[in-house]
Amino acid sequence: MSSFLHGCRYFILPLVITVMALTIIQVTEANWQIWDEIIGQLPYWLLSIAAAMALQFNRSRLAFLALLLLVFYVSKQSSAQLFTTLDNYTDELFIGGAIVISWFAFIKDRGIISSHGMVRALVIIIGLGLGFIWLEVIERFQAEIIAQFPVNVTYQTLTLLPIIFCFILVFFRAMWRANLVNTAILTTLGIWLFYYFQPDALPLAVLLSSLAVIYLFTILIDSYFLAYRDELTGLASRRALYNLVLSLGRKYSVAMLDIDHFKKFNDTYGHDVGDQVLRLVAAKMARVAGGGKVFRYGGEEFTIVFPRKDTQAILDDLEDVRESIEDYRIVLREDKRKKNSNAQAKAKRGKSRNVGKNTVSVTISIGVAERLGGESFDQALKRADQALYRAKKKGRNQICL
Ligand code: GH3
Ligand code: MG
Ligand code: MG
Repeated sequence: MSSFLHGCRYFILPLVITVMALTIIQVTEANWQIWDEIIGQLPYWLLSIAAAMALQFNRSRLAFLALLLLVFYVSKQSSAQLFTTLDNYTDELFIGGAIVISWFAFIKDRGIISSHGMVRALVIIIGLGLGFIWLEVIERFQAEIIAQFPVNVTYQTLTLLPIIFCFILVFFRAMWRANLVNTAILTTLGIWLFYYFQPDALPLAVLLSSLAVIYLFTILIDSYFLAYRDELTGLASRRALYNLVLSLGRKYSVAMLDIDHFKKFNDTYGHDVGDQVLRLVAAKMARVAGGGKVFRYGGEEFTIVFPRKDTQAILDDLEDVRESIEDYRIVLREDKRKKNSNAQAKAKRGKSRNVGKNTVSVTISIGVAERLGGESFDQALKRADQALYRAKKKGRNQICL
């Protein structure tokens, strides 16, 4: 998947859906006012479930956020003395909360009930404390601080400075490291700011319930990808292949693809370069025409399934893939080149050869079979594998039926 598509899928799309959903809720607010009481209870349930699920799936950052939001909701609903006193410190808590949420965008998922969890709990308290410190500092030194700025700034802008800073950091983090958890954290920060600036636009219960639902979707979709996507190449995994098999009709063709002399390639350039090449070769395969569905079968072996196609119909498409990989001059990244420059100097000539100073190239062999009447998928796959073996024996870099 190109990085643009990746960004659309994991960054822009979730944000657009969230904004649309909240807008629809806002516009139709009058219709669900009879459910007010139930809606008021929802955050307790949804945030608890989100926290439990996040813990179960090792998404500790989302678990922490869900718990913190739950505490926040409890504090807002409660009339206990402690919480009503906190109402006098809304600005401090808002700034501290924004700092804590942003901090989660830059750390890794670790256990909650562990030493990591203790440290994190401590940092959360410090983060919240920073809100108090910041407001105290500008209260005392506002004249001096304002004098430092080349442009005119108001006291109000000064108080918001950490939030603007946090939002920019988290926004770019989520954009560059596009994944659902980072987008969920950005959304949390966005909703946190929205609630502060527009407290009456939507009830807190609705905002927090929406966040809990976003966390649950994030965990669910992430685990789906974990199970059905290959992490290195981003292609569908072997598990996904066997899932597809369940829905295949009687007619289909299957191709097995294998990189030639890849062991030697790894020995020459190192495993890191090997991984890089695997990723790029996989991206070329993913562009196969003819409705082919591409899977990483394992190691440097790939499978393409063409539903409703016989072998004659797909040979040209597979030939295009083979050629595109043969012609592909893979430019090694700078650090990899340096690290492997010695290995390159010693590189032996073979099919996986050093083409130019900074480029390498590989070839692939392909075996194809179409399903015969009464055959199982495994039998058809086995014949494709035998065809691949023939392609290797005949000299590699070719397709065999
Ligand atoms: P052939 O042309 O006969 O296919 O030769 P080959 O060396 O490619 O065949 P073989 O199956 O013996 O070797 C596969 C090699 O692929 C072994 C391993 O070094 C490499 N390989 C498998 N998975 C990965 C991976 O995830 N990353 C890297 N870098 N290398 C891998
Ligand atoms: Mg191989
Ligand atoms: Mg192999």
